[in-house]
Amino acid sequence: MRSKQGVYLVLNAGSSSLKFSVFRAAANVVELEALVSGQISGIGSSARFQAKSADRRPLGEHRWDDKESACRDTLLQYVLDWVNGTLIGDEIVAVGHRIVHGGLSLGKPMRVTPTLLDELDRLVPLAPLHQPHNLAPIRILAQKFPELAQVACFDTAFHSTQPAIARSYALPRALTDEGICSYGFHGLSYDYVTSRLMERQPELAHGRIVICHLGNGSSLCAVKDGRSMDTSMGFSALNGVPMGTRSGSIDPGVILYLMREKKMGYAELEDLLYRKSGLLGVSGISNDMKVLQDSEDPAARAAVELFCHRVAREVAAMATSMGGLDALVFTAGIGENSPEIRALIAERLAWLGVSVDSGANRTNAFEISAADVRVPVFVVPTNEEKMIARYTITVLGESMASA
Ligand code: ADP
Repeated sequence: MRSKQGVYLVLNAGSSSLKFSVFRAAANVVELEALVSGQISGIGSSARFQAKSADRRPLGEHRWDDKESACRDTLLQYVLDWVNGTLIGDEIVAVGHRIVHGGLSLGKPMRVTPTLLDELDRLVPLAPLHQPHNLAPIRILAQKFPELAQVACFDTAFHSTQPAIARSYALPRALTDEGICSYGFHGLSYDYVTSRLMERQPELAHGRIVICHLGNGSSLCAVKDGRSMDTSMGFSALNGVPMGTRSGSIDPGVILYLMREKKMGYAELEDLLYRKSGLLGVSGISNDMKVLQDSEDPAARAAVELFCHRVAREVAAMATSMGGLDALVFTAGIGENSPEIRALIAERLAWLGVSVDSGANRTNAFEISAADVRVPVFVVPTNEEKMIARYTITVLGESMASA
């Protein structure tokens, strides 16, 4: 009988979903083998489990009744049992978690300890909609399986290299000093995309790159020599470009006006800015870019145009933070799959030397720029889960070496 092989479970826990992926370590930490992935959606109301193989074959499905749907402990145990039952002969040796906030001090992934958990708890006020959900499975696993190694990977960590000027708001110094500054998010995605570019275009990747992570949540990052120099999301995941249902940057005076004239309170404002704005708010039709692109309704077109205008404007802002632009990269759901949006953004950046080749763009090719352009343009699929698995293996390797 062969001995059990170690596999790494990656968890990305949100308010109503729990996404998971399983990887097996290969000869080097960069080339991990993806085995299975899936998610539980509808947590809290009508939870549903779906899983698929690495080649996207459906492997499992399950539904829970309303009462069980809210029990995160039961749902997480189901994922563990399903993984153990499906990958017979493999053993989960560690779990890597996506954690939205690592504050100013956690600039790299860390092995979970009670002290780290306390520190992450203290960061909840900075990301109240995400951090508690990210931490919940860590706690459950720590209690059930105290010997199981867990690693926390932060969405903010990639941005720890930014200069103070990129992180500061023009607020009184005392507020900046207490942590009211720009942290940035989508760091695991930027980290992965940068690593892919380093593999495939090493010379360019050491230059000045703007990466556009355009999905349900969207942001841009200025990456110079592989390090984050600036980003469009800031203190919260509301800042920057418009998103599916989030406003992106608006004049803070609008909030003061809504409070004063419309007597809006905290809950109403949070709902407006996080759930009723962005593509959904502008179009009144959908938060889904594909739906808007396929619609001929002028309100849908207006939302698409506003999105592209704001992304293009932000590309120029990011380039300014690096003193120039050597390559432009698109990633995430919209960035990887929408030739139309990429073309509309590129058109607005022609003055910077950006132009896409319509044939390459149509097929979502790796390099989509027109011949002889000053700024080459790439499409690089992101893989935050793989990045977390890589970090989990690396952090555990380091902690074993130093033990
Ligand atoms: P999340 O931020 O939740 O991870 P994704 O990165 O999966 O989201 O991106 C989801 C977005 O990508 C949706 O707005 C969806 O419409 C869009 N999208 C996916 N495929 C296409 C496509 N072929 N054309 C346009 N938009 C697309």
